[in-house]
Amino acid sequence: MTIEKVRKTVREIAPYEWEASSAAIAKRFGLRENEVKRFDTNTSPFQAQFEIDESGLNEYPDPSYAELSQAIAEYVGCDAKRVVVGAGADEILEVIAKTFVDNGDSAVVSTPTYSMYRIVVEQMGGRALSVPRESDFSLDNRKLIEASIGAKAVFVCNPNNPTGNAAPLEKIKELCEAAQTPVVVDEAYYEFCGETAVNEKNAIVVRTFSKAFSLAGARVGYAVASEEIAAEMNKVRPPNSVSALSVRLALKSLEKQNQARMRENVVKTISERERLRREFEKLGLLVYPSQTNFLLVKFESEDAAQRVFESLLARGMVARNFSRKISGCLRFTVRSPSDDDLLVSAIKEVFEK
Ligand code: PMP
Repeated sequence: MTIEKVRKTVREIAPYEWEASSAAIAKRFGLRENEVKRFDTNTSPFQAQFEIDESGLNEYPDPSYAELSQAIAEYVGCDAKRVVVGAGADEILEVIAKTFVDNGDSAVVSTPTYSMYRIVVEQMGGRALSVPRESDFSLDNRKLIEASIGAKAVFVCNPNNPTGNAAPLEKIKELCEAAQTPVVVDEAYYEFCGETAVNEKNAIVVRTFSKAFSLAGARVGYAVASEEIAAEMNKVRPPNSVSALSVRLALKSLEKQNQARMRENVVKTISERERLRREFEKLGLLVYPSQTNFLLVKFESEDAAQRVFESLLARGMVARNFSRKISGCLRFTVRSPSDDDLLVSAIKEVFEK
């Protein structure tokens, strides 16, 4: 009875999908939960360990996040008035949809990509128009620009999840200049790539502390937009969704010495990523170019990828399964050299069976 009261829009949404939890996998395969290794979440293998002040939690965080916005602005190299803080990049994406998309509007999404763009648009009663990337996963600017006519926003992930490649800045520039809408450039993996659209007039850049900064559990993300757009976005974001503890963690992570540690970790991850790529290639696999902390790997067929996925799962190793969406592909987060070695040996074993 009451289910009929749920908005039709919501009932029709294909929800976000993720792989099973570590607890569920452990239970299914008779493992201990801490034996399960997540190669599916694109998080950092390095721990963020900060001493933080736990006092004052009886009060709300500063709802303007002024201190954090200022620290982010210094990190980005922009004015703090351009920064919008949220509970992870995911909440920022919702805020963007709330700011631009009304019932019946459309927004363009360059696919295959992170599925939350479609979901946040659909939540608002909007329609996500998919513009496929080229066969090498490069952006199809011509089609994106064409589709932007009459749309409210264009969503581009750069570097792209799950393919790993980054568009040259020139191409993002061209898109921002020609698109008839704001261009949302999701730079969740910015630190691994180093190129940013922050200075493009028409761009709304989305970033996160969940990847290079090792703070996925803290849930802090931000947008950098024009001052005008940032002010509109701030009207529709929840006032206190980032906890005072998370604000303090993000502030700590932006302190000079911690930024330096983050950068060292990024360098280690990139070198480990290229080592892992070579290991995969030795197994005869096609590995797509990556400017992120993960690799998209193509197996012989959808069935082969599915078989590898299942066999890894039984060993407590969770890949992200794209075998049906991007034919024959699995995505692997770069972890520590020893974890990555276990992964490669497990795949080898599956092939030898
Ligand atoms: N954008 C992209 C491209 C991502 O891959 C992710 C997380 N996997 C997010 C946004 C969401 O990040 P957050 O943890 O900050 O919500």
